[in-house]
Amino acid sequence: MHPFNYQRATSPAQAVAAVAPAPSAAFVAGGTSQLDLMKEEVLRPSLLVDVAALPLKTIGALAGGLQLGAGVSNTAAAMHPEVLTRYPVVSEALLAGASTQIRNMASLGGNPLQRTRCPYFRDPAQACNKREPGTGCAALKGINKVHAIFGASAACVATHPSDLAVALAVLDAQVQVVGPAGSRTIAFPDLHRLPGDTPQQDTTLAHGELITSIDLPAFTGRSHYLKVRERASYAFALVSCAVALDMDGKKIKRARVALGGVAHKPWRVPAAEAMLAGKKPSEKLFRAAAEVAFADAKPLEHNAYKIPMGRNLLLRALLETSGLQPLQGPAGTAFAASVGGMGGE
Ligand code: SF4
Repeated sequence: MHPFNYQRATSPAQAVAAVAPAPSAAFVAGGTSQLDLMKEEVLRPSLLVDVAALPLKTIGALAGGLQLGAGVSNTAAAMHPEVLTRYPVVSEALLAGASTQIRNMASLGGNPLQRTRCPYFRDPAQACNKREPGTGCAALKGINKVHAIFGASAACVATHPSDLAVALAVLDAQVQVVGPAGSRTIAFPDLHRLPGDTPQQDTTLAHGELITSIDLPAFTGRSHYLKVRERASYAFALVSCAVALDMDGKKIKRARVALGGVAHKPWRVPAAEAMLAGKKPSEKLFRAAAEVAFADAKPLEHNAYKIPMGRNLLLRALLETSGLQPLQGPAGTAFAASVGGMGGE
């Protein structure tokens, strides 16, 4: 591991003041992903500013919704009664990720900032525009089975790995940030970006900006998260989906759908959402929405399997969220947490 300096922050403002002036300084909280990358020499920060002890560890009511402190652990958030009952999609997504030990250490603020699991990014011997801009992309002609089918560029075809981010994308969450220019609020869909010509930038955060909370707006509908992965635990999504349905009697008033494991950011599918709005749930409708959701997919040489897999997963998520089909067993989901946790109604 490359040598680095270490400081323990005493306040969010002091943490920002320490990181902002040093281009290669970084925040660290749980360190569950960051330290791996440092050991592999993928990341080489000159300074780590530890924000784990900052007073950002509360979950509380906020304008009818819920404010999740950035320092709350993934485990604490997943098992919080208000999250379990009102936002089961968040709990399910968190419990579908990593292992118990990692969830105990990992923070909500760090979770959406995880770097890609592209194997070429994690191997300094390989060409990677995200790790080292201008060197090329080994995945384009390599084994690209875990890579993107939406929104990729000639510079990068990586996918974003956070399960939580996919859930937050359907809840219209907001991210509170403090940085060298003051505080600001970022709508969750605007936090992550597509790779374009600058895949080294995963998010719209400026250097030195620190996430202080993730705010969930009021939500009384039903929500659900499903994930397909190569083994039953501690694996990243090949494809995942989050669904949030606001019901009006027996009809869907508003539908929000996001896909994970398919793009450089959580991938909302407005065409499928528009198709579902105002309709009565049915398998026929859900099959049509799942077709529409993947109609514009552009697979690479080794990942066309994600299209039928994703369609089937979304169909199942819609059936289960609407109540047309009971929740099934694990198959990559956090089943124990989701039982009885359809939320809202
Ligand atoms: Fe790097 Fe992106 Fe190409 Fe992976 S897909 S090798 S992260 S540039």
